[in-house]
Amino acid sequence: MVTTEPAELLGIWEAGLAQRTIRALLLHRAARPVFSDDELRSLPVGGRAADLLALRRELFGERMQVVVECSGCNEVMEFDLDVARLGAWPEQHELQVSEDGYLVEFRLPTVADLEVAAAGETAADRRLRLLRRCTVSAVREGEPLGCEALPEHVQRRMAELAERADPAADLTLSVSCPECGASTPSALDVVGCLWAELDSWARDVLLDVHLLASAYGWSEPQVLALSPLRRRYYLELCADA
Ligand SMILES: [Zn+2]
Repeated sequence: MVTTEPAELLGIWEAGLAQRTIRALLLHRAARPVFSDDELRSLPVGGRAADLLALRRELFGERMQVVVECSGCNEVMEFDLDVARLGAWPEQHELQVSEDGYLVEFRLPTVADLEVAAAGETAADRRLRLLRRCTVSAVREGEPLGCEALPEHVQRRMAELAERADPAADLTLSVSCPECGASTPSALDVVGCLWAELDSWARDVLLDVHLLASAYGWSEPQVLALSPLRRRYYLELCADA
């Protein structure tokens, strides 16, 4: 069950307006209201994307409009995405690499892992933080070793496996331009897209409240308690009057 109550959604929007950095968490709470914040942070990164896309479907439907600018000719391309086809929940969370005598057991990065990694100062530091968090055990020829001792190609293999196991962690669309044929890779920012839609929905709802409160003297909770259909109907009557 996701949060669909207008009053609660408005509360989320209000909290996230001031604090951009907590928008992902706020939206994730709405997608899984029974989970604590720690439980939400312990979910795989692609799992959160899948949750947010499920919330998006529930609130705004299956079709999502995306705008991408062509990297070849700057043509602006608009198209509809089918939300249901994006963002599957990862099936496997524990993974293993066995290569050149190295045996590494590791798990998919979670939201909390990414937060810790993001605090690193350099790209190498961020990668090492993520590696430390996600490595369960690493041995070479039966001898345990620290994950900073894992060679580049083993680390790369780990990243490939994690990407394959959790494809929704990094949703990249490849868009072909109808004008010049160039292909533009475009990362789908699920949090940003959903936030923009929530923002525009919230501003519309507040305008409805304003119009109906002015016309009928109703309070905000009374207006929000109306079904969208009835709200629309009363607004039409106000416009006709
Ligand atoms: Zn183009």
